[in-house]
Amino acid sequence: MKEIIKNVYHVGDSGCSVFLVNTQSDDGLVLIDCGMSLSLIKNISRAGLDPKNIKNCIITHFHIDHIGACSDLKKFNKNVKFFAHELDATAIEEKGHDHETAARWYGVSYTPVKLEKRLKGDLEILKFGQCEFKCIHTPGHTPGSIVVVIEVNKTKVLFGQDLHGPIIPGVSNFNDYQDSLRKILDLKADILCEGHFGIYQPAERVERYIKGYIE
Ligand SMILES: [Zn+2]
Repeated sequence: MKEIIKNVYHVGDSGCSVFLVNTQSDDGLVLIDCGMSLSLIKNISRAGLDPKNIKNCIITHFHIDHIGACSDLKKFNKNVKFFAHELDATAIEEKGHDHETAARWYGVSYTPVKLEKRLKGDLEILKFGQCEFKCIHTPGHTPGSIVVVIEVNKTKVLFGQDLHGPIIPGVSNFNDYQDSLRKILDLKADILCEGHFGIYQPAERVERYIKGYIE
């Protein structure tokens, strides 16, 4: 558990990197992806944060390494609400999509969770406390992949998660992915929280990292 910038934390890694924003409001704590282990999420108590105060979880896409712990989190804390893009929603909400979620590849069984809201279109803004979470549709890696952007003290934090890909036959779309990378580059983020490869800052390093995947 590491504070990246005020009230924004890297909780740790289980499957994917899990990030958390403390809205310091009645909307509580917001998770960006769940990872695969509830015990990792519970570790936030070591930083003085209450895992029962996780009220919202934004899911960047339907892959099992990002959603595996959702049902355990819901069992532990029934107040938590999940958000994901409508194009990835079915595999998150229903059983029987183990190819899309890659649960079969990981050899784990996925227990679906219901979404509070299916995000639609190119951009939806979720407001928790005073913090606006811009959920930007960036298809390619999966049809409903999103990145999430917030601004903290004029610093733009980008939760890019699987912007590194990979391109998976039958699930991903390479051309969409390349278009999405250009869109993400244009966001000109100051800090990039990546889903598997760490945290990048300042803006020049973020730019260089994203450009590394553009062909
Ligand atoms: Zn993925």
